Amino acid sequence: MNGTVVLLIVNTAVAGLFAVSYVLIAVVGRGQRPVIAFGISYFIGMLTPLCELAIHWGAPLEPLMVLSPLTLLVAFLVMSAALSAFERRRPYWGAIAAIGLVGTALRMSIWTAERNHLAYELGYQAPFVAALGLCAWTAIAQSARRPLQLLLGTLFAVIAMDFLLKPFVAVSVGSGASPRGYVASAYALFSQASTGILLIAAGLVVLVVVVQALVQDFTLTTETDPLSGLLNRRGFERQAQQILAAAARNGRDITAVMIDFDHFKRINDTYGHDVGDGVIRHFAAVLNHVLPRCALVARMGGEEFAVLLDDTTLAGGQLIAETVRHQLRSQPCALPRVTVSLGVAQRWPDEALGELLRRADQAAYRAKQAGRDRVVCDAPGSNVVDLRGGLGGRSAG
Ligand code: GH3
Ligand code: MG
Ligand code: MG
Repeated sequence: MNGTVVLLIVNTAVAGLFAVSYVLIAVVGRGQRPVIAFGISYFIGMLTPLCELAIHWGAPLEPLMVLSPLTLLVAFLVMSAALSAFERRRPYWGAIAAIGLVGTALRMSIWTAERNHLAYELGYQAPFVAALGLCAWTAIAQSARRPLQLLLGTLFAVIAMDFLLKPFVAVSVGSGASPRGYVASAYALFSQASTGILLIAAGLVVLVVVVQALVQDFTLTTETDPLSGLLNRRGFERQAQQILAAAARNGRDITAVMIDFDHFKRINDTYGHDVGDGVIRHFAAVLNHVLPRCALVARMGGEEFAVLLDDTTLAGGQLIAETVRHQLRSQPCALPRVTVSLGVAQRWPDEALGELLRRADQAAYRAKQAGRDRVVCDAPGSNVVDLRGGLGGRSAG
């Protein structure tokens, strides 16, 4: 069996395996439906080496001569659309249609032209170069410049170069006197080997991109509280550790606020659990509205919330805590009125997250003991601002 035939069989099998893998990932990872478009691209691309094999084995020539380049062009154009869909962006339909139509017209125009001439070979490869260029552009332009997508875009640009090189190789070593002679040509060996290797590389990078998105989806799900939409304890602790490490490096202040609903059991007992859930959701919206961008906020469980404030001193934390308390009281809401008790603590140098939260929690506990609906700061006597009057509420410190 000739080397090119082996490569054609291998390329068909590899494209088929990629197609099946993407479809399986799309089925298993339900949040990543657009992955199926990568499967469609590789499935259509698989038909090209299959057509070349069929030509070699004596199948009717004319339909396969149309089908072989057409399937490859469609596969590349579907890849561009798939890359957009994966990023939840609108595909470049105008460019896709233009390359599809002009490419097909170009193929028709050189139908009777002589092989092994530069004009014919360039005309044959030009649509693929354009479609691959579009894939490269799509991967780079629609992905917010993330490293893996930049790598994928560069890889598609390299594959476009490979297709641009093919006419020159074809002319210098010969691409066979006829379509049936193609398989026996030295050019076919170069063409199938280079394209095969590069499309396997692209398939693998796409696979890594897809897996990365699946991991991100999974992390988001496991770190989000479904009721409030805020981070849960796991997400809070992971992100808080990163903030603490960065703050320690840069010498920034960190302040934690622990928040607990007052007499929340009464709300459930009086109005029912669903109304209690509504109050939790409402409070999450208040937090999202009131807290500054530097705040990391989470529902730690039950009716307890935690806020980590980057680059914030105890006085700043107290001000923010008072604003939260005040907003909850003053925002118009059809739900039963609730109040919160808040504890604030500023991080000591090198203090662990658990210890910082424990001190903030103790301060919240002191707020409960002092009568609820108030803010208490840890480390009494430190430069705590008395906000009475300013925000219309009490302040304990
Ligand atoms: P305190 O002012 O001392 O904090 O009193 P409390 O009633 O808020 O505190 P306690 O710890 O006795 O009760 C907390 C209540 O929070 C009990 C539980 O029914 C309610 N709770 C916890 N998680 C949820 C939830 O997801 N939804 C609803 N509706 N209620 C919850
Ligand atoms: Mg509680
Ligand atoms: Mg409570």
